[in-house]
Formats: sequence, structure tokens, C-alpha cells
Amino acid sequence: MGTKLVLASNNAKKAAEMQSLLAPLGLEIIPQGQLGVGEAEEPYFTFVENALAKARHAAAAAHLPAIADDSGLCVAALGGAPGTFSARFAGEPKSDERNNQFLLEQLAQMPENQRNAWYVCCLVLVRHADDPCPLIADGQWHGTILRAPRGAGGFGYDPLFWLPELGRSAAELEPAHKNAISHRGIAMRRLIERLREQPLSPTTPLA
Ligand code: IMP
Repeated sequence: MGTKLVLASNNAKKAAEMQSLLAPLGLEIIPQGQLGVGEAEEPYFTFVENALAKARHAAAAAHLPAIADDSGLCVAALGGAPGTFSARFAGEPKSDERNNQFLLEQLAQMPENQRNAWYVCCLVLVRHADDPCPLIADGQWHGTILRAPRGAGGFGYDPLFWLPELGRSAAELEPAHKNAISHRGIAMRRLIERLREQPLSPTTPLA
């Protein structure tokens, strides 16, 4: 068994992905729900603030090191919106389909050269709730917003997120291809680099 790390999310897919990425570092990921830890508030306008709030909340409740992520889509013509409000852009209850429809409406008058957008993922790892030096890593993935959905893979805004250099939408990529180039993949690789430089504890084995 490796060093235990609480994941401040109950998303089973995220937990499995993080477990496989972090296992070589000797870290065992435990979703916070398994420890009876509830979800934290995510009220902030920046990804790093939300991720830090989620990580601190999980570390305080579980008395263990914790990792959290916060992600979303930023659209240049909308001043970076929906940003940290990506999941609920079209209001509650959260719906990917309504969010995508709302985004298309917001950009209806925008010409092709003003439809730039980027995904952001921010990962924060705290050794304990009062850690003064959290490990922080982020990743960005740039594309443009289509005028109609394409593809059935991925989730969220992926059917509208066009990758000009690949000639495909994010929803038309194989999952492994998306993970290799996405904001989340980039952020995770950067966090792993930081963890190799600054292990969680002197006894945490380094791969
Ligand atoms: P989460 O906080 O990482 O679960 O994601 C917040 C929201 O951002 C999601 O509900 C999606 O609307 C959007 N989002 C984040 N990452 C992606 C992605 O990889 N593809 C599509 N949408 C994403």
C-alpha cells in the first residue's frame, strides 16, 4: 500500500484516471466519498481558488493529504466565460446539452476568427489542510467553437470544441488521444513532475 491521498471528487472516472497516473509514485487515491467527506463549495472566479478550497476541505475532513481539480472552458469573445461556471453556464440543473446550446447562442454573431477558446484544468495537492506550500499545476488546451456539435465522445463542451490542427472536434477523439493532449493530461503530467521534485514525505518512494 502506498501513501494515501484523498481525491476531492466523487467522479469514478477521474478517480480511476488519477489512480493509474499516480500509482507509479507510490500513491493510493481514495475518493472522498469513501471516507464520508461531502463536496466543498466552489464559489470562486478562478480555477486555482476553487481547486485549493476543495483540496483543503477534503484534507481537513479526512486528516490526510488531498488532491483536487477544477476545470472549465474559457471563450475569448466572452471575456473568459464560462470559466469556473462552465458546469452551470445555462443555469441549474446542470446540463451539458443546455450549456452547449447556450454557448452557441452567445456566439451566434461571432465570425470564425473570433471563436477562439481554451480549456483549463488546475490541480492542487495539499499535504494537510494548513499546508502553506500547496503543489499547483495547470494545463490549457486551445481550440475554436464550432457552429454545430460534432462527435459523440468526451463530455461537456467537447462536441463544440474544434481542434483546427487535427481537423476534428474533441468529441471525435479516442479517449487515450484526448488524455494525451488535453488540459487535464497536461496538468497531471506537470503535477507529477512537481511531486517528483517535492515528494509528499521523505518516505514516499519515487519511481
Ligand atoms: P469539472 O469541474 O472538471 O468536473 O468540470 C467542470 C465543467 O467544465 C464540466 O462540467 C464541463 O462543462 C467543463 N469541462 C471541463 N473539462 C472538460 C473537458 O475535458 N471536456 C468538456 N468539458 C469540460
